[in-house]
Parts: sequence; C-alpha cells; structure tokens
Amino acid sequence: MKYEAVIGLEVHVQLSTNTKIFCPCSTRYSGNEPNTSVCEVCSGQPGVLPVLNAEVLKRAVKTGLALNCSIAKRTKFDRKNYFYPDLPKGYQVSQFDMPICEKGYIVVNDGLAEGKKDKKIGITRIHMEEDAGKNVHGADGKSSFVDYNRAGVPLLEIVSEPDIRTSSEAKEYLEKLKTILKYIDVSDCNMEDGSLRCDANVSVRPAGETKLGTKVEIKNMNSFRGVQKAIDYEIERQIKVCESGSKITQETRLYDEAKAVTLTMRKKEEAFDYRYFPEPDLPPYDIAQKDIDAIRSTLPELPDAKFSRYLDEMQLSAYDASLLAGNPSLAAFFDRCAAGYKNYKAITNWLLGDISKKMNELGIDDIFDARIRPEHLLEMLALIDNGTISGKIAKTVIDEIFASGEKPAKIIEKLGLVQISDDSFILNIINEVVAENPKSISDYISGKEAAVGFLVGQIMKKTRGKANPRIVNEMLITELAKLKNA
Ligand SMILES: [Zn+2]
Repeated sequence: MKYEAVIGLEVHVQLSTNTKIFCPCSTRYSGNEPNTSVCEVCSGQPGVLPVLNAEVLKRAVKTGLALNCSIAKRTKFDRKNYFYPDLPKGYQVSQFDMPICEKGYIVVNDGLAEGKKDKKIGITRIHMEEDAGKNVHGADGKSSFVDYNRAGVPLLEIVSEPDIRTSSEAKEYLEKLKTILKYIDVSDCNMEDGSLRCDANVSVRPAGETKLGTKVEIKNMNSFRGVQKAIDYEIERQIKVCESGSKITQETRLYDEAKAVTLTMRKKEEAFDYRYFPEPDLPPYDIAQKDIDAIRSTLPELPDAKFSRYLDEMQLSAYDASLLAGNPSLAAFFDRCAAGYKNYKAITNWLLGDISKKMNELGIDDIFDARIRPEHLLEMLALIDNGTISGKIAKTVIDEIFASGEKPAKIIEKLGLVQISDDSFILNIINEVVAENPKSISDYISGKEAAVGFLVGQIMKKTRGKANPRIVNEMLITELAKLKNA
C-alpha cells in the first residue's frame, strides 16, 4: 500500500527585544552568570504584577502581517498550568483562545527550485508567550540547578496547518520562515542558541484517504537537518507499524540526534491537562486598525517580492534570484550595488562567486561582518570596465579588500596590479614565448588550435597575470597567422 505523510510544525521564536515580556529585565542572558537577569516578576514572587512590553505586541503584529495573517482586534493572555522546576510561577503566561494572529500562510517551492510549483502552507495561529528558565544538571549526576535568566524572555509560537507532506517541504517551510523573520528583524533565529525551536506533528495515512491518522509529536530537534531526518525516520517507523497490522500510539517522542531515531517520551494518557484560564493580572488588549496600518508601513520588501523583482526587472536567473532573496544581508548588499551599477549579472556573479567563497573560507555568515562594502565592489567593477584591471586580477583585489578593507584603487597601486595593455610591451613577451616554444608553434601551423591556449597561458605567466587577456589573444593570433603564412 502507498502511504502519505501529514506534517504540521510548531515553531517557537525568541523575540530579540531588549527587555523581557512582562518586566524590565534584559533578555541578553546568554553567557551571563545564572540568575543575574531576574527580578521579582520573572522569578515568580507573590504579589507582583506583570506589565506587557509594548514592543512584543508590535513585533507579534509585524510577524503576523509578514506571514499573511489576520490580526486580532482584541487579544488576551491565559495561564497554562503545569509544574516544572524551570517554571517559577507554576504556570506559563501564554494565549489560548484569542491569539494575536490567525489564518496566514507561507509560500514554498516558489520557483526557488526550478520546475516546482508554488504551494501555500497554512499558518493556523501565532501567539505570544513567555519562555521558561533552564535546568542545569550538576557534574556529579546528583544535583540539579535552575537558572531563571531565560524565564520571561518573549516568544512567538507559530503553528502551521497540517499542510506539509514531506520532510523536504518541512525544511523549505522552516527556511522560508527563518528568512522572513530575519527580513523583518524580530528575532536572531539561531537554532543552535535556541532562539528558534521546532516541534513536528507527524502522522501517516493510506494515499487517497482524507481522514487524518493518529499523530505523534516529535521534540528535541536542534537543526533544520535534524528536523528533516527526524521526520523521515518517523514516517518510515509509522508505515512499518501500520504494515505490521498494529495501530499508531498517540504520544510525544524525542529525537536522538546521535542515533538518528525517535524514542517514546510520554504516552497520551501521561499528557498534561493544562487547565488554561484567563490571566487575571493582564487586561485584554484592543488593537486599532491605524496601529496595524502603521506597523504594516514599516515592513521591508519581503523575499517573495524580492525574488520576483530580481527575476522580472533585473533579469537574473531563478537560481541566482533565489540565492540572493533567500539571504537578507546579501540581498541588501546587492540592492545597494544595483542602485549605482546597471550590470546586475556582474554584481551577482561576484557576490555569489568569489565573495561568497571568501566568506565561507573565513567563516563569515553575514556579508556586513566582512570588511568589503558595496562601494568597494562598485569601484572594482568600474576598474574592470575601464580596463585598469582584468577579472583575474580582481580576484586578488577581493582577497586584499577582505584582508585590509582598503579601497580597490589603493590596493592596485600598492601591489602594482595595473593591467598591462601596452601593445609594444605585450608584443615583446609574445616574441619571447614564440621563440621559447617551437614545438607549440609547429603544432599550431599543422592545425592544432589548442596550442593557442597554452601560449596564452605562458604569456600571462610571464606578466604575472597582468597582461590584458583580450589584447594578448588578439595580438597572439595576428602573430601566429604571420608565422603560418610565412
Ligand atoms: Zn524580570
């Protein structure tokens, strides 16, 4: 029998606000001494009152708009009750029945891989909540500690519809979501640091069946690749269970990254009953249309729109357009260059070629963390266009910009990289090379065209790559023709 997987994702995103969701404590807890970024509110002392951080509400609305959601006219907070040591109050302030955003979508397969069709993955809801602290286990294996620095850091939970059918679609959804969140600058989205976390609901059903199968929740995936592998493992496991004639158990499973398997964490009967009820210490919030419109006006050009513009207006290939649009800082760099230089393909080639390669070598993720600036690239492109340097020498210039941050003209002067276009100088070199390589000359005369490439290589070597390759080619062909007809 053929099976189909049905997958929904729940993503928790830490908002990169300066302060926590209900108190003025700093959210920059990473690397701090435990329990130094806490106060009576986020450590759950009795008799204190939470105050909503307005920036959290603003960023939640911004995220909802960027993900095509409708924004609630009125929203409220609820208490989600459970006991765990990292939860100081014994409940988490979250949102239950009146979330801030609902009914959005993310488009995947939007031409990013050629030949594929667009697909909308629905977003059921987005709600605001507070993060919990962290349990830290002692090296002796007997003691545990609690660090509340993270308690009260604002989170958005973004819940997708069960519209995803494959693990690669899940990965595309996550990548697109992360890209959008980075564009609108609401979160660092760093999965390794835990500022983006993902749980997956997975079920399988016979192909053609419309009823949903029993779902299993998978937790503890620490990378997009981990999500993909955990889902693949789980789909295969569930199909095996179905084919053996057994039933899938509704449960929560943990992904074991080292073994690449999912393992039972708790069964349905052990699931928590959270007994949600409205948070009495926070009022409901009414959101005015003019405030929503004001936030909408701050949205930047988003990746789908950018992709279309690069494709339609700038005539980039779908592949190049998707690489640029998928990387907010690279796209910003490109846009700044494109504002001052019309050969968009040349900018793209340098950005996605030598510059990206250099960034990989140096382990730089964000181009604005490198020493190269759009002005550098623009100056270098102009120097190539006016014949001062060749494309080959430009590669050396790129290396030097990354190393020193100096301007291309200065680097060229300092390293003596100006391209040689002087005919008489080049002719002298050609004559030398011709004299030194009689075998290649006789090969050429007997009809072996490949000898030309070798001779050009020798000439470039003698000039340490500085001869203008176009002039070298033209002059060499002329000289060879003379020899042939002699
Ligand atoms: Zn606090």
